[in-house]
Amino acid sequence: MHTAPIQRLAPTALALACGTAVLLASCGGGDDFTTPFVDAALALPAAAAPRFTEPPTGTSEYQRHLDTATANAGTEFAGEQRRQWCYSVENVGAPPELQNTTVVPMTRLFDNLYYGGRRWVGAYVLKTATGYFLLDGQNTLADAQNITVPGLVAMDIDPATFKAGMPTHGHGDHYNGLKHMQDAYGGQVYIGSADAVALSATNPRNATAFAGAATSFITTTQLPTEVLTPQTITVDGQALTVLSTPGHTPGTVSGILPARLGDQTYKLVYWGGTGTPTTLPLARQYLDGTERTYQLAKAENVDGTLHTHPFVDGSLAKVDAIRAGTTGGTNPFLIGNASTLRSLSVLRECSAAKVNALDATVLNPVWLTTTVELAASTQTSSSGDNRNVSARVRVSDPYGPVANAPVTLRLSSGTGSCTATTDAAGVAACGLLTDLPTAGKALQASFDGTSTAAKVWLSSVATVALN
Ligand SMILES: [Zn+2]
Repeated sequence: MHTAPIQRLAPTALALACGTAVLLASCGGGDDFTTPFVDAALALPAAAAPRFTEPPTGTSEYQRHLDTATANAGTEFAGEQRRQWCYSVENVGAPPELQNTTVVPMTRLFDNLYYGGRRWVGAYVLKTATGYFLLDGQNTLADAQNITVPGLVAMDIDPATFKAGMPTHGHGDHYNGLKHMQDAYGGQVYIGSADAVALSATNPRNATAFAGAATSFITTTQLPTEVLTPQTITVDGQALTVLSTPGHTPGTVSGILPARLGDQTYKLVYWGGTGTPTTLPLARQYLDGTERTYQLAKAENVDGTLHTHPFVDGSLAKVDAIRAGTTGGTNPFLIGNASTLRSLSVLRECSAAKVNALDATVLNPVWLTTTVELAASTQTSSSGDNRNVSARVRVSDPYGPVANAPVTLRLSSGTGSCTATTDAAGVAACGLLTDLPTAGKALQASFDGTSTAAKVWLSSVATVALN
């Protein structure tokens, strides 16, 4: 989000602005404004040079999506996240971070949320009314016993109050440890229905993975994989949003965890199975899952991301910072909705590139992040009874200005709005009238997104406080 300082107009500038506006509307003259106008003196800062160059015509669809992943990542996610979200697209084999088995002791991230495990994979503990929920469960029974259980004790949580767990998908590094928790304490284990067979006794690997346990299966509660809209599970009174995102495995689940700090509850989205499929139908499903996860995170105004392979989305560095006490007093997981969506847009573009790695002829539009720059000013009518709020905005994507972008300006007080469409320079302007004082009110400029066959421009918002 970009914001620009409000221009405080000198009286002469106001007179000039009004003088110009007289051509368009009644202005000044001792009366109220009757028609909104644009303050002619209102200007945006000069457009910054685009940081990325659009791939030329003739670029392969595969490369077009990879380039968009890079462009969307921008400087914010230029390093680790760009590399990790696209890792299985651009590399053979697993990322080296999956080899790092160093233990991460249980760490309190929020009032009700903890991470413990290893640097390559681990589990999140969510405290509920009378117990706790586990997102993933450690790679082994021993890790559940030796990392989760003492970690819970260290956090003053009784391990015996295990209410439920959910592996994000049916691979052992996500569900093995839940076998220990369920055997020791009871509790439900949710799983996407298409992955339920992986946790059953018919999966031959479980006899080895669960060696020493009385049985070679986990008793599961199935979440219907075929339901592609958000679902809710309720654990010990806590409603949790889950989203079926098949692709990495047939039954992978993503979702949102609530994270509390004091009186405030935030939302963190997790992508359940990273590692793109190697067949086209599954890669298409995986891509569809990334798009639905993006839409969920947008609709729910999610504040940040989590990952049970915590190096993938930067969670591990945040856990490290919290452990080291180097967060500067702000919770590093709360990156805001715009950055959350930016991260997921990188994942989406990497996934689209994988589809083209498997079939170069498939045409999917690129999803481009956008930003809105906003400048605004307020002029009071000479009668003092009403005001004209002018705004000038610029909409850009990583490659430059976005033309024909519809933009809506709204006052936070809820009275007054105007709309405009950007020109070739990505600039639009409009004015609105209000009879309420504007001092301290927020003016929001929102671009709700637009598309062509080849491009989807993602929505973005900017807000300024009015004088
Ligand atoms: Zn997996």
